[in-house]
Amino acid sequence: MRTRHFGPLGPVPVLGLGTWNMERDDRTSAIAAIRRAIELGMTHIDTAELYGRGKVEQLVGEAIAGLRDRVFLASKVMPSNATFDGTLRACEASLKRLGTDHLDLYLLHWRGETPLGETFRAFEQLKAQGKIRAWGVSNFDDADLDEALRASGPGSIACNQVLYHLGERTIEHRVIPWCTEHGVAVVAYSPLGATGGFPRSRPLEAIAKRIGATPRQVALAFLAQRAFVIPKSSSPSHVDELAREIELDAAAIAELEAAFPLAPWRGLPSL
Ligand code: NAP
Repeated sequence: MRTRHFGPLGPVPVLGLGTWNMERDDRTSAIAAIRRAIELGMTHIDTAELYGRGKVEQLVGEAIAGLRDRVFLASKVMPSNATFDGTLRACEASLKRLGTDHLDLYLLHWRGETPLGETFRAFEQLKAQGKIRAWGVSNFDDADLDEALRASGPGSIACNQVLYHLGERTIEHRVIPWCTEHGVAVVAYSPLGATGGFPRSRPLEAIAKRIGATPRQVALAFLAQRAFVIPKSSSPSHVDELAREIELDAAAIAELEAAFPLAPWRGLPSL
């Protein structure tokens, strides 16, 4: 599995696995899918206290039992919990549900009312205590990132997790350039367009056929040029498909650029 430097954390696989809504899926299959992803090298597992109100963290904890040292584990605090004390408490609760003593990455899920500096102080305390290895943000546009940088100082923000798929390339305007300049990893969420959102597209299907890949593999390879990518699946056979990395040549990239053009900047979208 290809890796890339993840902010200050060193190499991390470019392809990981999301877990949103897994509590709605067959539990045995979801656990098998997570374990299959780890086996295939998709070891960045992304979850959040929000998902199924803690049920998904429990499910992830069950899936990674015995495999913790192979996993790059990320979770998120909700803005409504992101006061200084609330963040410390939320992290403890996530660790308990996940059955681990530390997270590799802890994110502010999106911006809320709490001043950023207050949440970041809690993140730094958790880091000093060894409860998280690094922290980052999610759904931040370039103005939010400027403010976050002022509140935290350089080198502290490991990543920004944002919406990015073939039909939604807005982050290429301002967010990716900002993150590249400041050494902040970009993590693409909903890279398959979320549930039911994967595009039916003749050019995409033609490219996939030409290179002996599937349309989803082509989509992920396109996004992985610029971001870490965390598709979600609760199906081991779907994970097998997602984990097969493919190379796109310049012609295929140009065709995809034309079929899924970058729309003008209208602010950062989120789900
Ligand atoms: P996604 O990964 O774009 O799409 C997931 C959908 O694709 C599921 O319905 C899944 O169904 C299906 N799928 C996956 N592989 C497939 C395959 N090989 N064949 C057919 N269908 C396939 O959607 P997402 O869950 O919204 O985004 C990914 C992750 O990003 C989330 O799970 C979450 O961890 C994170 N996220 C973060 C935020 C944020 O605000 N920070 C927001 C949204 C998402 P099956 O399960 O049946 O395979």
